[in-house]
Amino acid sequence: MKSGFFFPNLRLSRICGGLLFVSFSLAAEPPPELADRYQGRRDLVGYPALPVMRAPKHGDADWIPCLRMRNLKHAKPFTDEEAANVAREIAGMGFNVVASEDSRYLLRDADDKLAAGEVDTVGLPFPDLVKNTRRLADALHREGLRFMGHLTCAQVAFTYAAKHPEQRMIDVATGKPAEDKNYGVAYMCYVNDTFWKHYRARLTDYIEGSQVDALMVDEIQTFHENPRGCGCDSCRAKFKADTGIELPPNGQPGS
Ligand SMILES: [Zn+2]
Repeated sequence: MKSGFFFPNLRLSRICGGLLFVSFSLAAEPPPELADRYQGRRDLVGYPALPVMRAPKHGDADWIPCLRMRNLKHAKPFTDEEAANVAREIAGMGFNVVASEDSRYLLRDADDKLAAGEVDTVGLPFPDLVKNTRRLADALHREGLRFMGHLTCAQVAFTYAAKHPEQRMIDVATGKPAEDKNYGVAYMCYVNDTFWKHYRARLTDYIEGSQVDALMVDEIQTFHENPRGCGCDSCRAKFKADTGIELPPNGQPGS
């Protein structure tokens, strides 16, 4: 049975001013003594082997099995010229797909000021975020590249949670709203229809308005917050409908 290792050819290239620079490249073939432990790219992911370094642009048909992807942060507005320049630069490096970054949050409105500590919910208010994403998508498409929208899910800024407390996820064991202050986010309930109607409406506008080619929906969990489940009104009603059983009052497990 082969193990799942790549064997990089490590090379200490330079020691300079106290900094150690290490360069490496992926070996095309493993060292003979390690051949029985080697798993090649084709075995590992089932895609055709690709050159590691720069390669010519690929056509439309093969962009999914031949991803050469990097990300692009665009929390701030780009001008047309900046978008064209960055698209040309990325295409010139041999990438064929760009993943959006720092614009994951679709629920920011113009009056939602960015709070200290926000990470995954940074970015422009929704209409501006769509316009900025479209500007980049158009520029990347002109260079033959694809643009993937990288989004967050049911974690929201505290400004949104304050406006919609009835959509919040509630820890059934403590009765407290689920949130993660390290990331500056609150969690909305996975069962709350009103939240998802709003999310899907924004998502539809985002897809149509930005013309992105793919989506990656991130943070589809709560990073260990609320491990015992949600006790919000939506979950209570759904649990009762499904089982006939009343959940115990929030903060009173076992009662
Ligand atoms: Zn709930």
